[in-house]
Amino acid sequence: MENIEKEIVIIGAGLTGLTLAFYLRKRGKNVLILEKNERTGGVINTVTEKGFTYETGPSTGVLSSLEIVELFEDLVQQCSLQVAAKGANKRYIWKKTKWEALPSGLLSAVRTPLFTLKDKLRILGELFRKAGGTPNESVADLVVRRLGKSFLDYAVDPFLSGVYAGDPSQLITRHALPKLYALEQNYGGFVRGTIAKQKEAKTDPQRAQHKKVTRQVFSVVDGLKKLTETLHEQIGNANILTNCKDLSIQPTASGFSIQFRQNSDDVKSILASKVITTIGGYALADVIPFADASDLKHFAETTYSPVIQIAVGYNHWSGIKLDAFGGLISSKDKRSVLGVLFPSAIFPYRAPEGGALLSVFMGGTKRKDLLLLPDTEIEKLVKAELKILMKVDAEPDLLRIHRYQHAIAQYDVKTDDRLKSISNIEKKYPGLIIAGSIRDGIGMSDRVKQAKILAKELMMT
Ligand SMILES: Cc1cc2nc3c(=O)[nH]c(=O)nc-3n(C[C@H](O)[C@H](O)[C@H](O)COP(=O)(O)OP(=O)(O)OC[C@H]3O[C@@H](n4cnc5c(N)ncnc54)[C@H](O)[C@@H]3O)c2cc1C
Repeated sequence: MENIEKEIVIIGAGLTGLTLAFYLRKRGKNVLILEKNERTGGVINTVTEKGFTYETGPSTGVLSSLEIVELFEDLVQQCSLQVAAKGANKRYIWKKTKWEALPSGLLSAVRTPLFTLKDKLRILGELFRKAGGTPNESVADLVVRRLGKSFLDYAVDPFLSGVYAGDPSQLITRHALPKLYALEQNYGGFVRGTIAKQKEAKTDPQRAQHKKVTRQVFSVVDGLKKLTETLHEQIGNANILTNCKDLSIQPTASGFSIQFRQNSDDVKSILASKVITTIGGYALADVIPFADASDLKHFAETTYSPVIQIAVGYNHWSGIKLDAFGGLISSKDKRSVLGVLFPSAIFPYRAPEGGALLSVFMGGTKRKDLLLLPDTEIEKLVKAELKILMKVDAEPDLLRIHRYQHAIAQYDVKTDDRLKSISNIEKKYPGLIIAGSIRDGIGMSDRVKQAKILAKELMMT
């Protein structure tokens, strides 16, 4: 068995692993990525078929960190960032029998039927409400306390379905929405915090940098796969091994030994001074079996929301006007669908001229039962839901179902234990870093931010 030596080995070639390897390679580090699957990209994948270009995993990201903006700047020659069309800024929320636009200004906030009059009046008092003192307060409790139940039902619940496919009563604000938590803790409330932050931004010496973080919705020309393919190309085939099965790490006197099978029984072994994992909590115990069982337990217990993503395409669109980013649905309305995005309204060339591409998502922590249905039942449900939600009777010309049992890590009450276990292991085994979406945020911007910060830290050691 040959022993290859590498300075840094990264486990997993999703967006986190690829971005980390890209920045380390850029600075001349001897890096190797080991990936279980045949292809790189992780959950990011784009398919072009029958005149439609659809995403099978994440649909869009948000330019919410400087690091994601800088990544696109670094790849500008090879990969073109695409931001959402201006006409697709609107967001719909389903209430009872129809879509209502989420308010975008004061006047629309006063007029919207989404929130009760009592809660609209209550919001005036938000300025004077005391900050909460419970560190593990759920998002639901915080929102009801500060804004009222109708804001939870018709703004935050559907928003969290869109981001976490999660349950606001289980997600802990401090972990799941850290910026919102900080507004209340640092400034006393959301309104005060927002005003103070706007003032601070004006005098911030790094204002130009922060101005780049526009929070615009993004994709990439030709789809998100182009981003991960570009990263792969830049890292180079010689520095990525795919099809690495049954991978497991063992600490050695000078670092780590990583063993895996490639092409049937051919066992390979690699020695590395540093190893960074970017894989899910459910997969960690097999990869770092030497760690204390009491820590591994907390990874295995990470809650994940399951998601079914359905791409639905029509050559000729006859449903409601697609003049928005999409629509989200509150769990209060008890529908089978969490939301419908309108990719062909957000980005050009996603559907044939005159046609439409929709991205429907179902499941989440509140409707795990839907994942048990066969594709034929999912298809029936989607068509029935689209008839009501999108007023479309026509048979779709494309319908593709993709399932994810472990779609999004939930930053719930178990998060503190998980973070403590990461810290225990990293202290006990210097050179081993446990990264990925089990910490530091679940969105694509968060993944790139974590990877770039880690790359900087690794350059210093
Ligand atoms: C259905 C869905 C919809 C989403 N929607 C959005 C969205 O709209 N906007 C947004 O910003 N984010 C979204 N996300 C989240 C975002 O896609 C992810 O946070 C991000 O792409 C994860 O990248 P990653 O590299 O951390 O993990 P992954 O993409 O999961 O990559 C991990 C890699 O590790 C590999 N691996 C696992 N185990 C092993 C092992 N034992 N040995 C070797 N390799 C292994 C896997 O095969 C995989 O390639 C969505 C996620 C899903 C699943």
